[in-house]
Amino acid sequence: MRTFPPYRAQVVTEIPITTRPQREQALAAAGYNAFNLPANMVTIDLLTDSGTGAVSTAQEAAATAADRSYAGSESFFRFRSVLSELTHYPHILPVHQGRAAERVLFSAVLAPGRISLSNTHFDTTRANVELLGAEARDLPCAEFGDLDSREPFKGNIDLAAAEQILTGPDGNRVGMMLVTITNNGGGGQPVSMANLRAASKLCRAHGVPIFLDAARFAENAWLVIQRESGYQDKTPREVAEEAFGLVDGCVASLKKDGISPMGAFIGLNDAELAQRCETNLIATEGFRTYGGLGAHDLDRVAQGLREVLDPNYLGARAAEAARLAQQANDAGVDIVQPPGIHALYLNAGRLLPHLPASRFPGHALACELYLEGGIRCVELGSLYLGTLDEHNELVTPAPFELVRIALPRRVYTQGHFDYVAEVLADIAKNPERVPGYRIVEAPATLRHFNLRMAPA
Ligand SMILES: *Cc1c(COP(=O)(O)O)cnc(C)c1O
Repeated sequence: MRTFPPYRAQVVTEIPITTRPQREQALAAAGYNAFNLPANMVTIDLLTDSGTGAVSTAQEAAATAADRSYAGSESFFRFRSVLSELTHYPHILPVHQGRAAERVLFSAVLAPGRISLSNTHFDTTRANVELLGAEARDLPCAEFGDLDSREPFKGNIDLAAAEQILTGPDGNRVGMMLVTITNNGGGGQPVSMANLRAASKLCRAHGVPIFLDAARFAENAWLVIQRESGYQDKTPREVAEEAFGLVDGCVASLKKDGISPMGAFIGLNDAELAQRCETNLIATEGFRTYGGLGAHDLDRVAQGLREVLDPNYLGARAAEAARLAQQANDAGVDIVQPPGIHALYLNAGRLLPHLPASRFPGHALACELYLEGGIRCVELGSLYLGTLDEHNELVTPAPFELVRIALPRRVYTQGHFDYVAEVLADIAKNPERVPGYRIVEAPATLRHFNLRMAPA
């Protein structure tokens, strides 16, 4: 299939071009933490695909015409109507971003001692489960553990493990199942409809509610169409509708597949649960017709959700990710296979075998991409997931040492990605030159956002 992006740039933003000495100075001043870098020192920003997508002229036109009424705003009705058509949930609550949706829903479903089962809880998702005194258990499928395997649905939840918990001594403590599509914490891999259907059946048999964390519902639908038999002839909208229909409700950040700078929602079937969420929402986020969002955000999201399900858009975006994955492979850098859509995960552990986990090879590669090319991305390895002792020395490494290259929606073109591939290839020519890093200062919570590092 021939693909090309079904849009053109009409307004552009200049990007900063810096010298290596300037970048060395900026990174040192940032304590070798990409989250501390000022954006005007970053040339290609691949830190996240969240809230970073380029909005369309149609979205901006809708935002300009937004209705800022406190109650009963037309913007809310447009927001709700797009989401009801997509999900068919009778209850749609706006919230300012995904983590607020998590907090509001989980506080109505979980309690201290309860268990949440997931293919993988995203970091804020886990934090919101744990803040309630509940326990977040990740049950990724076995195929996920093999980075090189090309199994099509490595984002699936391990249903045998879930069933064992549900029928075991902890069974009556399980408060919910949350299936993340695509599995962001699990390499951006998709979840199959067969897995979701079976998960739903299992949960219903045990009287446990099941929800989607649907931040990338459109990208998951696209990968289902490409990879799952029986779905080839369906549209992304049909697949997404089916996914929402298999579960009791969802939380979703709309900063991803809503292609908007801000926004999220909770969708629910159950009226009583929705009522409890709404009370919490009004007390902590905003009235039920805006939930902490500006009217312009409600309208940007409503339009973004219409655009994101366009097969031409999803096909071009998937092709962009696949092409960059191929370029990385050609440069001798392994990535987590098969490539997903919203990000590529570079296997830094394999590229930099001279660095032990305690010298954080993922972080080392991420720093090198910045120093060499002004490219900002983030480690997903022992720095993020490992455990440290009181001297900030690594005690338990993460199972993998990865770097996540996130791909903002509609922002960069092939020329930018060719540049990223060239920088990566240059690093891969002499990987032994990449230095390791040590931790200088690490706060106890939300470590990766706030730590300070130094070359070892
Ligand atoms: C981004 C994300 C969240 C949190 O959403 P925010 O809008 O950033 O608060 C939750 N789950 C997943 C899978 C995400 O990717």
